[in-house]
Amino acid sequence: MTPKAIVSRRGADRVRGGHPWIYRTDVADVAAEPGDLVQVVSDRGRPLGWAWYSSQSQIVLRLLSTATVGIDERTLLQSRIAAAVAYRATLGIEASACRLIHGDADQLPATVVDRYTDEDGAYLVMQTLAQGSDRRLELIADLLMEACRPRGILARNDPKVRMLEGLEPLVAVVRGQVPDRVVVQEGGVRYSVDLHGGQKTGLFLDQRENHAAAARYARGDAFDGFTYNGGFALQMARGARHVVALDSSPAAVETTRANARANGIDNVEVREANVFDELRELEVSGVQFDTVALDPPAFARNRRSVDRALAGYKEINLRALRLLRPGGHLITCSCSYNVDEALFLDVLHAAAIDAHATVWLVEKRMQARDHPVLVGVPETHYLKCIVLRKVM
Ligand code: SAH
Repeated sequence: MTPKAIVSRRGADRVRGGHPWIYRTDVADVAAEPGDLVQVVSDRGRPLGWAWYSSQSQIVLRLLSTATVGIDERTLLQSRIAAAVAYRATLGIEASACRLIHGDADQLPATVVDRYTDEDGAYLVMQTLAQGSDRRLELIADLLMEACRPRGILARNDPKVRMLEGLEPLVAVVRGQVPDRVVVQEGGVRYSVDLHGGQKTGLFLDQRENHAAAARYARGDAFDGFTYNGGFALQMARGARHVVALDSSPAAVETTRANARANGIDNVEVREANVFDELRELEVSGVQFDTVALDPPAFARNRRSVDRALAGYKEINLRALRLLRPGGHLITCSCSYNVDEALFLDVLHAAAIDAHATVWLVEKRMQARDHPVLVGVPETHYLKCIVLRKVM
């Protein structure tokens, strides 16, 4: 018998409002094993759908389906994977790497799958970030093999969020073979990607469309503060005369240098530095730029750290605006979902005032379309990319 989870009225309202997460405080009664499929019912016994149960997380139920009748999990997962893959095929993505499955937006809770294709074929990198998806890792891997026929699948199950679920970190090839590095192209630049040890699943695929946007603005002297593997810098190099690219991670600096060389790009200067210090020093030395990209790591990983994060965002954007020449563009990002777009725009406004800069809001952008935002679920809109023009 499938276990049942009885949710409070507030929990039921959340489900009806289209939110797939039900918190511990909204669960009235449940007796299930970690990762079990449970039927979600209202306090009056009305069936609301089916969810994966977590015994550890504050998010106790992750909704898989709002069907009121019985479901067959395998068939359901199979159709969700097929739909997710079919959607990406419609996007005309000009890159050989993309996100195939984006968790709740694809109705595959706590499941991430990215596809990296090099000249030998496709490799999938998957993450199962909650007890429900983790317990089904083997099943999901089988279904991915059937749907995508990759040469191999790597489980990159080392993100910290797994700890909230009581899950151990694990990085392992679970199907076929996956080389240490693959070379993919994005926006005409080839990137060598460390699938096993790089940040995220290897690349920041969510920034693909913003890299291309930044390349359209790039000219003159350009600056990429948090470059990682050169995502913004190497594509801005086309339009700019010279690009300074910084990262505090030696591995990132080394990879960006190697990527620049492999692409025959010779106008990118890559340095290991802390952006906060470097921006201050550049200001003192009177250096100016025409294009600046800022894509820091999530400063606010939880609600408690929002104030500090806002101070961080304000500082780097204020300094960047001071370094910009009139007519220059700032492409500035925040990937903290605890800082929403309105709040981020407020910070940029405050930074402009303190920098005594008159700026236009030129574009409001977000994560690439292979990382869809589920309307009504603000947590799925995490990446903001704002383009400002310094008028004077
Ligand atoms: N812009 C990249 C992704 C950046 S991720 C892309 O589009 O692909 C954030 C990067 O910032 C990481 O590589 C991290 O090593 C670096 N980083 C974090 N704190 C930093 C700091 N204070 N100064 C410079 N780099 C930093």
